[in-house]
Amino acid sequence: MYELNETHDPKLLSWVASANDGKTDFPIQNLPFASFRKIGRNEAFRGGVAIGDQILDLAAAAKSGIFDGEAQTALESCSKDKLNEFMAMGSNVWSALRLALSRALRSGAIAEAGLSSCLVSMSDAEHTMPCVIPDYTDFYASIHHATNIGALFRPDNPLLPNYKWIPIGYHGRSSSIDISGQSFPRPVGQTKAPDADVPSLGPCKRLDFELEMGIFVGSGNKMGSRVSIDDANEHIFGMCLFNDWSARDIQGWEYQPLGPFLAKNFASTISPWIVTNEALAPYRIEFTRDENDPQPMDYLTSETNSNSGGLDINLEVLIETKTMRDQGSKPVSLATSNMKYSYWTVAQMMTHHTVGGCNMQPGDMFATGTMSGPDASQACAMIELTTGGKNPVTLPNGETRTFLDDGDTVIITGHCSKDGAARIGFGSSIGTILPAI
Ligand code: MN
Repeated sequence: MYELNETHDPKLLSWVASANDGKTDFPIQNLPFASFRKIGRNEAFRGGVAIGDQILDLAAAAKSGIFDGEAQTALESCSKDKLNEFMAMGSNVWSALRLALSRALRSGAIAEAGLSSCLVSMSDAEHTMPCVIPDYTDFYASIHHATNIGALFRPDNPLLPNYKWIPIGYHGRSSSIDISGQSFPRPVGQTKAPDADVPSLGPCKRLDFELEMGIFVGSGNKMGSRVSIDDANEHIFGMCLFNDWSARDIQGWEYQPLGPFLAKNFASTISPWIVTNEALAPYRIEFTRDENDPQPMDYLTSETNSNSGGLDINLEVLIETKTMRDQGSKPVSLATSNMKYSYWTVAQMMTHHTVGGCNMQPGDMFATGTMSGPDASQACAMIELTTGGKNPVTLPNGETRTFLDDGDTVIITGHCSKDGAARIGFGSSIGTILPAI
């Protein structure tokens, strides 16, 4: 587990002025990674680190002659369009690069003279996926989401008996995970209305979002080995925002007996920036389990996990309809929540995933599941916000939604802030629904 070090010092300022305003998602204490290039140029994508409203071009930094040792080796890997090789190098190398970049970007650093020409304005950049995602797993880690969804199907028995013992998940599909800014057609699929005799094929009528966090595995483990709860965080490279778009009517017809399939494999949208596990160190919190619930089994328990396995990350989901866009009005909030409501920690998810010997690979992703909180205003999917489509949400302009319409844009944001630490953010995950084809 990462300890606080000089890179987290809230007093640090950068020679990149926009990093110092206290409002940016990307102060010098954050330093998240993405893959980017200049818009409209036929040039290669390469790794970048966010600083204020700028991106430090890591390929250019590798050629600057400013860095050496492990940091230079890491920068050379980050010059590629995908970061898998860098993610495989492990936590000591990630830390070495973070420290070197922090020192080089600080106010007064000699490196300013050589690095200022390696900056690209975010407004001039476009992103691609930061890494190849070999495999993707979606967990179900909010007990509030699991209870709300379960109550729609089983009012008397919302939570299945395994929930409080196992971090529940399913193996999803990585090919349809794409980067913020994407638009995709409303999925077509088989559905069967409760009063229909037979199913029919057609456009999804109950299209939903799910506000989740995505977790990137850095260094993997060999098949047949398992990652202990105390080692789990050493394997985690970082986190992003994740919208797990869901076709609820397709899901309702297909999910038994083997779980989600086409309801989940048409699109998922991540934010471009990976906030590193090390950057999140100031926002680690206690992990506690209600004394009336079963305590996690031994392999999911450790002192470190109890003391600092949780994460305090504020999350929000907003909607911008086509009408709002045409009227020039700003996106409106649908729900706010926090990663602290997770019933399982990231380390517990990683440890459970590998307990049977499953090999995780650099770039593998797992997502938390819809991160709903205990309050109704913290329901992080339309199916919860509208009680299965029964109670429409009314937007400030008078429009109503039970599920999502064509032209709707869904925006997820996240940030961490508290006294005594720098505010850091995740940027945003933005996706727009097009008509079915
Ligand atoms: Mn999900």
